[in-house]
Amino acid sequence: MRSRLIILLLVFVLSVSCNAQTTTTKDEQSDKTVSNLAYLKSIKKIDVHMHVRSEQQYIIDFMDEWNFKFNTLCTIGSNTKLLQAQIDTAKMLYNKDPRHYAWVTTFDATNFEQEGWAENVIEQLKNDFSNGALGVKVWKAIGMEYKKTNGEYLQLDDPVFTPVFEFIASQNKTLIAHMGEPIHAWMPTYFTKEGVGRNYWAKRPEYSFWDKPELPSYSDILAARDHVIERHPNLKIVGAHLGSMEFDVDEIITRLEKYPNFAVELGGRTRYFMWQARGKVRDFFIRYQDRIMYGIDRGSRAAMTPEEKVETRKEMDFRTTLFFRYYATGDDIPWGNTISHDTPQPKATYTVKGINLPKEVLNKFFYTNAVNWFPGIDKDYK
Ligand SMILES: [Zn+2]
Repeated sequence: MRSRLIILLLVFVLSVSCNAQTTTTKDEQSDKTVSNLAYLKSIKKIDVHMHVRSEQQYIIDFMDEWNFKFNTLCTIGSNTKLLQAQIDTAKMLYNKDPRHYAWVTTFDATNFEQEGWAENVIEQLKNDFSNGALGVKVWKAIGMEYKKTNGEYLQLDDPVFTPVFEFIASQNKTLIAHMGEPIHAWMPTYFTKEGVGRNYWAKRPEYSFWDKPELPSYSDILAARDHVIERHPNLKIVGAHLGSMEFDVDEIITRLEKYPNFAVELGGRTRYFMWQARGKVRDFFIRYQDRIMYGIDRGSRAAMTPEEKVETRKEMDFRTTLFFRYYATGDDIPWGNTISHDTPQPKATYTVKGINLPKEVLNKFFYTNAVNWFPGIDKDYK
């Protein structure tokens, strides 16, 4: 009697564990039928670094086809005339079509020494926030261009900015900071034998700081940015273009470890990941999966010819296809690119292996982190 009971019990336990086994296998199978790439294509995605300067059908078509929403960034250098036009366009797009557009404002810092400058900026920001702006962008002209009357370069940690940053934090808005340049701006600018500049700094010599010891160094500029992160622990700060530390994930990690109020966004810098050790980059994404956001730094200009629209759309599709493959597969991707471009060279010069991120990491990188770091960015995106 006893042995029969034991046998019955054994049969019961075995059948339960077999069922459990079957269920798990089924789950794994159904999970595998959706590749990470197909999964990525299907989910909602937010590109946090776009510059949409005009209303264009090709941009809406792109977002609908790839399932994206764009966060368009206003950004201003010394050309303050452009400031209002950028803000007006971003505001208009957001008010008209909050499914597709979110926006981040900026402010004019050229006249920072004028009496009442900070108060005026805060007034402007109040108005922009009431029109849906999710944050404020500061640009590299602070640090690399604007000078004080004493001749020193204005840096981001100058006390003149303190009331502005305190206000942004008090409104639970985000500061997105493109400070400095990639470290290459402090390296030689190279030309082809025809004398044509081969990289961005050859074309924009004012932002090439190579061999100009009187100008601020790369470290000076990033240190000023880091002081601000440290001084304003309640202010969410997103480092644009991987915080200008795109050449080495270890540099980014140092800041992420030190400052819980700091995150980074891609800003079209995938090619720099491709140049670093694959395992190191993949570990970085896994370890800091809550602190990295996607952005390709494209968009539209105020005036565009039909050909330019077709070209831009093609380029956006090309980049998206490439980047999705890099992040969501383990494919060997034939590639060849340069410091200043992520367009392919005529001939692939090397192979890049995709980092094949897990689905939950892809979802954070492309969506959830944007929602956490720019509260309200998912508005009307169902
Ligand atoms: Zn940009």
